[in-house]
Amino acid sequence: MATKKSILLVTVDCLRADHVGFMGYGRPTTPFLDSLTSTSFVVPTAIVAGAPTYYSLPAILASRFPLALGRDVLGLGPDEPTLASVLKEAGYATASFGAGNPYLSRRFGCEHGFDVFNDFLEGEAGPIFEEKTNIASGNGWASRLNRKLQRIRSSMGPLGIVYDELYFEFCQRVTPVPDSLDALRRFPAANVIVDHACKWLSSVGDSPFFLWLHLMDPHSPYYPKDAAFAGMGQEPVTPYRARYVNSYWNRSDLGPRRLQRARDEIVSLYDAGVRWVDQQMARLIESLRRSNRWDDCIFALTADHGEEFIDHGGRYHPPFQLTEELIHVPLLLRARGSEKREVSKSPFSMIHLAPTLLEAARLTAPASFQGRSCLRHLEREEDFDGAAISECVAGCTNPFHAANRMGPRVLSVRESRYKLVLHFHPAAEDLYDLEADPKEQSPLVSPEQKPVRRRLLEIAREHLRRSIEQRDCRARVRARLREVQLEWARSFPQHSEA
Ligand SMILES: [Zn+2]
Repeated sequence: MATKKSILLVTVDCLRADHVGFMGYGRPTTPFLDSLTSTSFVVPTAIVAGAPTYYSLPAILASRFPLALGRDVLGLGPDEPTLASVLKEAGYATASFGAGNPYLSRRFGCEHGFDVFNDFLEGEAGPIFEEKTNIASGNGWASRLNRKLQRIRSSMGPLGIVYDELYFEFCQRVTPVPDSLDALRRFPAANVIVDHACKWLSSVGDSPFFLWLHLMDPHSPYYPKDAAFAGMGQEPVTPYRARYVNSYWNRSDLGPRRLQRARDEIVSLYDAGVRWVDQQMARLIESLRRSNRWDDCIFALTADHGEEFIDHGGRYHPPFQLTEELIHVPLLLRARGSEKREVSKSPFSMIHLAPTLLEAARLTAPASFQGRSCLRHLEREEDFDGAAISECVAGCTNPFHAANRMGPRVLSVRESRYKLVLHFHPAAEDLYDLEADPKEQSPLVSPEQKPVRRRLLEIAREHLRRSIEQRDCRARVRARLREVQLEWARSFPQHSEA
């Protein structure tokens, strides 16, 4: 009897496709993962189904578009079939270790199907997007004086900018700095997650396993575990400098032109986070090799979305747009037949990842999965069918407040060459020719490429029609109910035990 294949799925938060070595990045961010490419498929154009995390994960875990249950529903339905639940039913040992992303938690149904689920969140987790640094906050004498000066700042003219700079520098100098980057980190580093994973792996013996790790090392604020990597061959970065650059990058009073000054250093810190992930992947896979489990292991490494470094004037990854730096992610897939194969450059929607992994493990995907297995396309170097659709709700940076989720949609339809981005309010429709304009700098002017525009609009319309007509109302109601019960338990804790 053929042994069951185990599955190791690693999602790296904020990892954009063009910052890994195997996608052609110039810096050595992923030497270990690069070494796996001779036995893996490297998917050149993997496109997430939404961004950020909360609009991406339903596709990765449950092969479902993020807004399919309605814009007000966040996360997975309480009983929604997922990769984990299917594999658990098939007799797999299942575990998830996530580095403290509040959206990948029990609250949003991510634990479904896992024997062990550790999200490293203690107590109530809040939203991930931080307030931009307001340099006038604080209660010391300088802050009070600053607030007085802020009131007359508009009459200061150019002096106001000089004043802002001086005050920012002052704040940096007077705030105590910890003696290590680690003390500045907000999320557990990859080594902590890998330690837990290795311990769990050694507890499951020879049982086939499904292990999902979600790593936050490249996520902002950018404090890499290893200061030496941040220099990538140069001087290690000091905690003071790392904090300074992060605070500068987070300033609300600066436009793209002045932020540009910190961009290179920020990117170095981000790259160092990626490098640490790579090193820890080496450690994890080495331990699988030592226990003779690597050969029978399907491995997928990808991201929930990318990250912006002023490519289009912005920072981080808030849901305002669906530009390539946010939706194009790396995808390394080691499965049957993946030795040194070329893969089609056509867009691969992440909605297809879960069914592809299941087919690689010779299991059937549940009917609720909206994607389909692309294993054969990968093996035969065929184009993936259809365009890749991504969606999010504009401006929903804090989805813990249900009201924020009801903003207008942003939807993109990505083909190999053309990409259409639809903003629902205020209504805008931008068509890009990614061959002529890979950085999406200038949308084609109407009525250029009228047939292309019509075709992509038709795909968007069909997606929206299906999203409403095929809505699983039972899953929707159950997900809403979970949230109402949670609110109830929070308001009346003494009555919620039953
Ligand atoms: Zn994320």
